[in-house]
Amino acid sequence: MAKRVGVLAFQGGVREHADMLRGLGCEVTLVKKASQLDEIDGIVLPGGESSTMDRILRRFDMRDQLAEKLQEGLPVLGTCAGLIMLAHHLEDPAPGQETLDVLDIDVRRNAFGPQRDSAVERIETTFGVVEAAFIRAPEVVRVGESIEVIARVDGRVVGVSAPTALGISFHPELTGDSTIHEQFLALV
Ligand code: GLN
Repeated sequence: MAKRVGVLAFQGGVREHADMLRGLGCEVTLVKKASQLDEIDGIVLPGGESSTMDRILRRFDMRDQLAEKLQEGLPVLGTCAGLIMLAHHLEDPAPGQETLDVLDIDVRRNAFGPQRDSAVERIETTFGVVEAAFIRAPEVVRVGESIEVIARVDGRVVGVSAPTALGISFHPELTGDSTIHEQFLALV
């Protein structure tokens, strides 16, 4: 049976993740309400703007249920803004911004410069070389003991994993490289 995977669908790179997951044989749900969290076996938190997604999640009264599901072990892949949302602590949150506190990491937003410094790079990960787009990418500045580092760029941590979660600073869904999504689906 096809894996049922959700993409949090309020904002950001929703379609690219959905296309990638469908290409890998998943049944994709575009998640916009809390009840849909019971219909999926894993979820992608896409890139976009983490503070906006945080605000929308709270307005739609869905933040606490999502945090609870992820903390209980619903498999999750967070890319860029999604990684920021999974963090324990942000060095530079937007005013009032909160995280879902799923991964024992601290994150600095926009650590690789503004939009105009965006770049596509081939980076080493523990899963092999991945072609990755960096767009206002965050950096993981503290990694808890339970967390494995899966990717660095110039010594800076840009990818982490835990038993039910993967978080990356970059966007493989924009380059068509499915390595990270395949690793995520192995958790689902
Ligand atoms: N810097 C953005 C944020 O704070 C993330 C950028 C991205 O997802 N490409 O949410």
